[in-house]
Amino acid sequence: MQEALGHWKRFAALATVWLNRYQSDPFFRTEINVIALQISFGLVILGLVGISFTLLYRDITTAIVEGIRASTAGSSPEILANAIVGKLQQIRSANMFTIAGAVVLTTVLFGWIVARLTLAPARNALASQKQFIGNIAHEIRTPLSVIKTNTEVTLLDQNLTAELKQTLHSNIEELDRISDIINNLLSLSALVRPDRIEFTTIDLTNVVTETVEKYSPLAKKNEIEITLRKSPEQKVWGSKTALQQIIGNILKNALTYTPRQGHVTVTVEPTTEGIALMVEDSGIGIARKDLFRIFEPFYRSDQSRTRNTGGSGLGLAIVSELVKLHQGKIVIRSAVGRGTTVAVYFPAARRHAEVGGKELREGQNEIAVDFSSRQR
Ligand code: ADP
Repeated sequence: MQEALGHWKRFAALATVWLNRYQSDPFFRTEINVIALQISFGLVILGLVGISFTLLYRDITTAIVEGIRASTAGSSPEILANAIVGKLQQIRSANMFTIAGAVVLTTVLFGWIVARLTLAPARNALASQKQFIGNIAHEIRTPLSVIKTNTEVTLLDQNLTAELKQTLHSNIEELDRISDIINNLLSLSALVRPDRIEFTTIDLTNVVTETVEKYSPLAKKNEIEITLRKSPEQKVWGSKTALQQIIGNILKNALTYTPRQGHVTVTVEPTTEGIALMVEDSGIGIARKDLFRIFEPFYRSDQSRTRNTGGSGLGLAIVSELVKLHQGKIVIRSAVGRGTTVAVYFPAARRHAEVGGKELREGQNEIAVDFSSRQR
């Protein structure tokens, strides 16, 4: 009795430890849930097999009994056997399909549940990571702007040597670069709460025109000619700030990755796939292996890293999240050394029939990320 009580106490203590771990450790919880699911899967399959055997047994006995009953007194055992075999074959085909269908359906259903369960901690970790990045970025922003202001104030001092002035100017440039990264990180983390972004009807042509004007000093500095081709009044359902950021990030890339004397053409036009915003440059292009990864946060091609363009690899990650929120689609075509075209299609209330997709030219690669059919 005493011994049984001891065993029971040890078991209860162990169960409490496991229960606590189950509640506090998401990975342990997933492991246990997946094991439990696999056991239930096994039980369901066993149940299916059991039911199939019972039904088969019933059908077979019925077939034999009916076969014997139906045979006339004078019929030979061979005729009787053939009748029963024919009936049994019918039963076998009908049952095979039902059992196979049930097993396949159950396997798919359990597979789907297991996949969702296993991915849940990873999804949550990603969301907390974005939140964490956002919090840090928020904390760094204020001291950064204080350092920048102090540096600017110090620069006003007439007694500074030319060398020191140069150093302070380059400090300010670097601080601006960090500020850019911080702002991008904040945008990315703000996308964890997309419900806070306000949507209205917006004239895309207007936003594009304003953004192109905003970036014309950079184009001038980099000696790149921008051509704007626009159709008037292209209304889309969206957020003005988000649209400015989409266009700005794409245009900034075109201006950054295009050598001097290059061309960038920005087009807004209605197409069969929605209102299109296209940014075409005559720049360095993107290699096929990079094309599939440029939407990942912090991903930068080797080429752009060696060119020391000062980017953070966050621009297109933000663009893809924002386009997803607008239920749009992004298509990027690029050929190394010849240029890149980034096209974003926004759903419009009014669809236009004429312009179709352009053919791929020799040496060009394409990637399309379509969010149009997904739920917001
Ligand atoms: P970054 O801040 O590095 O520009 P992005 O996320 O905007 O980050 O872009 C990711 C990478 O995609 C860039 O580092 C660059 O390698 C490549 N890329 C984007 N746009 C272009 C373009 N128009 N031409 C060439 N490469 C580009």
